Amino acid sequence: MGKPENNSRGWLHPLFLGTYAENDELLEKVLVEFLRDHVYWRRNVHPEDRPQIPVMARYDRDYQEFVGRMKSELHGLSARLKNSAPFFNPRYIGHMASDLLLPGLIAQLVTTLYNPNHVTDEAAPVTLELELQVGLQLATMFGFNVDPQVEPCAWGHVTSGGTLANDEALWYLRALRYWPLAAARALREAQVEVGQLSGLEDEFARASDWQLFNLGIDQVIHLRRELLAQLKRDHSPAQAHKLAALIESERVETLGMAEFHQRHPDLATPKVLVPVTAHYSWEKALKLLGLGSANLHTVAVDERMRMDGKALDRELDECRREQQPVLAVIGVLGTTEYGSIDPIDDIVAARQRQRRQGLDFGIHIDAAWGGYLASIFRHADGSLVSHESLREQFAHFPSPETYQAFAALRHADSITVDPHKLGFVPFGCGAYVARNRSMTDFISQRAAYVFDPEESTAEREYERRFRNLGQYILEGSKPGAAAAGVWVTHKVLPLDHDHFGRLCGETIRNNEYFFDHIDELRQNLAGIARIVLPFEPDTNLICLAINPEGNRSLGAMNAFGKRIYAHLRVGGGMHIHQREFFGSRTLVHRSALSPTVAERLVSELGLDPATFVEDPDDSGDQADSIFLLRHTLMNPWLSNREHGLNYLDRYCRYLADLVRNELVSK
Ligand SMILES: *Cc1c(COP(=O)(O)O)cnc(C)c1O
Repeated sequence: MGKPENNSRGWLHPLFLGTYAENDELLEKVLVEFLRDHVYWRRNVHPEDRPQIPVMARYDRDYQEFVGRMKSELHGLSARLKNSAPFFNPRYIGHMASDLLLPGLIAQLVTTLYNPNHVTDEAAPVTLELELQVGLQLATMFGFNVDPQVEPCAWGHVTSGGTLANDEALWYLRALRYWPLAAARALREAQVEVGQLSGLEDEFARASDWQLFNLGIDQVIHLRRELLAQLKRDHSPAQAHKLAALIESERVETLGMAEFHQRHPDLATPKVLVPVTAHYSWEKALKLLGLGSANLHTVAVDERMRMDGKALDRELDECRREQQPVLAVIGVLGTTEYGSIDPIDDIVAARQRQRRQGLDFGIHIDAAWGGYLASIFRHADGSLVSHESLREQFAHFPSPETYQAFAALRHADSITVDPHKLGFVPFGCGAYVARNRSMTDFISQRAAYVFDPEESTAEREYERRFRNLGQYILEGSKPGAAAAGVWVTHKVLPLDHDHFGRLCGETIRNNEYFFDHIDELRQNLAGIARIVLPFEPDTNLICLAINPEGNRSLGAMNAFGKRIYAHLRVGGGMHIHQREFFGSRTLVHRSALSPTVAERLVSELGLDPATFVEDPDDSGDQADSIFLLRHTLMNPWLSNREHGLNYLDRYCRYLADLVRNELVSK
């Protein structure tokens, strides 16, 4: 083995098992060590107990037969697994997966031996606490306050993935924003007078549903406390209890959407605003909650595939004028298809403006992909790394817009982030993080009438709650091993610029390398095919469009792209050894683009504009979307040049060869 050419990459060497499983001995040694550790633990639970399985049992016929069957089936599984997608390999630049960080992988495997269940601390006396710490680690990375002495204090927990975290975000926001309406109606029905509550101009029971729906998150939390305290003060405990139960009976969680809205005819079904680039989990979330996917309202994006702040303003103005309630605006931090970063700062500013005019909404950030990039922006002490300092470390990243978006994260109400994506830990591990842990006041499957504790007992109340995690989240039983894996990962590589940020920075640098070398690919294929980068990347995803020179038909171009992709895809009956590289693909729809952007793309690709239409005929020339090769540049070894050409250069050459061959064979 030669000496590493570039010593500055030495920090990367112990992090992963490695492309060639270079760290096999390390993994094996540590695994065996902790396996033995587990064995001793078992023996030491009650060492006075005698072994139950006799030493001679292994010589029984049945025993051996079982072991034989087990091994045979495991070999069968292992054989099948050999054709898995080789995520760990730098030749894999398809979906959002890469090699796994050893600390998380080992911690997860080791913890599985103990099999903690994070539904409650009775089933996870040790590791549930670690899951809550993961929530705080992530919250700190986003800039939320985690000091319980200061309100609001953040909290977060691990989910099975980003989809569930997104579901949970909406579940929480709905519970919270519908609450004042339920309370006001219950008290009106009971003819209970409540006086002025802070933040409301009118007397509570006389406030309109529109007013009650348009309270901020912190305001609703505060209002509920004030109201319940008043009931407790002005009524006997039994009476107060009854009123609280009455409020509960008026909630949307009790009545369902249909009945609730029937009782509040002035309130239209709220909308959720997302950029057109939003992940399809949002549609699922609206379906799941009964809000209806028709109420998922898409906001236009700009030429970089970021939510268009002006378009958002227009949509919000219209909602306000028409008294159309908005449950939440979702900003995407790292879109799944393009890695683009929505202007979170613009969303926050829009809320400030709308709030003054009576329209409020929750802000949730879907940072399933890009959340971990926030580590690049934070010093260990929690302060933001300056933009200038970051600009010195990268060729293009971060643009001023991207920097502002990350800096504004702390104003969001909640954030989804996927440790199983850019956190480099095994599936399934997502996370939901909320700025204000008091949002949990609105979610509980029992003890719904518990009055809020006094200040002095608040801390104990939160401890009690989170020990019964299953009461406050969408999932029930769930693996503690997943949380333990993330916890150890964050301990070994803290979520700041110099640790986790360094790893994430590497993915950005690889992206910049690819970006800066696309011209070479273009020249390589000059006169043969046009290579177009449809959108300048914000982070670490790059899409390419390819059109054979002289072709004017989008339909034909897309068919060509699919033929190229057939050589890059996992599956399709091909064995992985028959593949040079693994990519992915996406479509960008005409309806997602402004006329200007659509025209630019068509012109750069040399297409006939009449072939890119929203309603294609069946001539085969027209299409409503452009086929793109999509590259997720997550593997930290992509631009390693230790053995000659790096993988990105090799990929570009391979792609050029594919294009040439495909044109010849046609
Ligand atoms: C991946 C992704 C999701 C869904 O997360 P899963 O972990 O696959 O459930 C949601 N939003 C965005 C932006 C994503 O990239």
